[in-house]
Amino acid sequence: MSRIVQQLMVYPPENLSLMAIPAEYINTDDFPCPTCKGMGWYWGENQGESAKHNCVECNGTGKMHAKITIEWRAGKLESKK
Ligand SMILES: [Zn+2]
Repeated sequence: MSRIVQQLMVYPPENLSLMAIPAEYINTDDFPCPTCKGMGWYWGENQGESAKHNCVECNGTGKMHAKITIEWRAGKLESKK
């Protein structure tokens, strides 16, 4: 089955001020929820009978997305021998 893959290329932004912008937040596009296969619900049992249950992972939306946090820090000095 075909899959859509999202990639993120990370590079420090120009004029980065570590004190003013310590972190960036990036939201991905939506992916189909892997638990309910994008349906927003799944079949389960309720008192011995089949019943639809809203998916608790995606809150019934059928979609998931990632919030990616990037924190910029100064590099470490290499020790001199
Ligand atoms: Zn789901």
